Amino acid sequence: NLAAVRAASTWANVPQGITEAFKADSFAQKINLGVGAYRDDQGKPYVLPSVRKAEDQVIASRLNKEYAGITGVPEFTKAAAVLAYGKDSSALNRLAITQSISGTGALRIGGAFLARFFPGAKTIYIPEPSWANHAAVFKDSGLEVRKYAYYNKQTIGLDFDGLLADIKAAPAGSAFLFHACAHNPTGVDPTPAQWKEIEAAVKAQGHYSFFDMAYQGFASGDIHKDAFALRHFVAQGHNVCLAQSFAKNMGLYGERIGAFSVVCADAAERARVDSQIKILVRPMYSNPPIHGARIAAEILNTPALYDQWLVEVKDMADRIITMRALLKDNLEKLGSKHDWSHITSQIGMFAYTGLTPEQMDVLAKEHSVYATRDGRISVAGITSANVGRLAEAIFKVKG
Ligand code: PLP
Repeated sequence: NLAAVRAASTWANVPQGITEAFKADSFAQKINLGVGAYRDDQGKPYVLPSVRKAEDQVIASRLNKEYAGITGVPEFTKAAAVLAYGKDSSALNRLAITQSISGTGALRIGGAFLARFFPGAKTIYIPEPSWANHAAVFKDSGLEVRKYAYYNKQTIGLDFDGLLADIKAAPAGSAFLFHACAHNPTGVDPTPAQWKEIEAAVKAQGHYSFFDMAYQGFASGDIHKDAFALRHFVAQGHNVCLAQSFAKNMGLYGERIGAFSVVCADAAERARVDSQIKILVRPMYSNPPIHGARIAAEILNTPALYDQWLVEVKDMADRIITMRALLKDNLEKLGSKHDWSHITSQIGMFAYTGLTPEQMDVLAKEHSVYATRDGRISVAGITSANVGRLAEAIFKVKG
């Protein structure tokens, strides 16, 4: 009725987001497992020492602030391509690559490029579930988004049969998006043997592959291992495209550094694709920011800094892997009868706990543990100091 409508605030039913709920909680031992960024073992944001050093060197060289070209800082994109595809890759001399506004911007350019030039249906298949922004980015790029099976709720693992069946069922020549490593949000990746079967199925159907690699090095601690799927597809003759991000593996989140690349048939095709990427980017943002690209380029192109960075990425990955093991151990010590092996078999920043939305609500309300209602927790938010209390909270809620 009108009186009630007038009395209530228009936004009275807007629910509180987890970040706000976490901030509003006055309990000193509250735990925030909703963050999508790495935290150190004190729970603090982390700037890699190699990044600090590279930044100092960039600033000391007193470069000017002129615009980069449309496709960005060439020293950066060249090195980014080598990092992703490998220094001996056959793709390097037929690769069209542009700097992008981090991984999201790379996906957006890729989506727009497919929408304009992909010869098949303007549809992209993404895993179910996927990073929530995938569907939004691709829809806004002008593509239709469909889902392929990926995750099995019962096993809290990969639905490999469903995935293969959906690849086979899609019309020949469809575009498929794959998370190169550290699938977000599930943390569930195919094994190398499974990737080989996926590649064969993709090839048999003549599908096109779009890789999103937001976590190279950050997943396993090894930049080569994390690039396995991408490099395997390229080696098997797939002219893929790729979105790269340096947000996680260099901790350059807010610098917005990434790259979008298209493996072309030859140099002539590369020149055509490159010119069309420029035509796409120009009206979007003219040209990308230079500071983060210079930092990343400094690291990738300075051998001593590069080696230091490799160690630091591995340290971040190892801390995450250790926290997974500690959480599982603690749950088992408490006497939990559930099989928690998925916590340690999953990879990357996120873990799917298998907890229901209702159980996640109890975790927040009664234990001051905050994460998304889909049961995903950010392992980066776990520390040696809070893992014990976290395990107790999960044990009380789930048993
Ligand atoms: N793709 C995936 C799967 C992600 O998880 C993320 C970040 O969380 C991104 C892409 C892009 O992030 P950014 O735009 O910060 O590089």
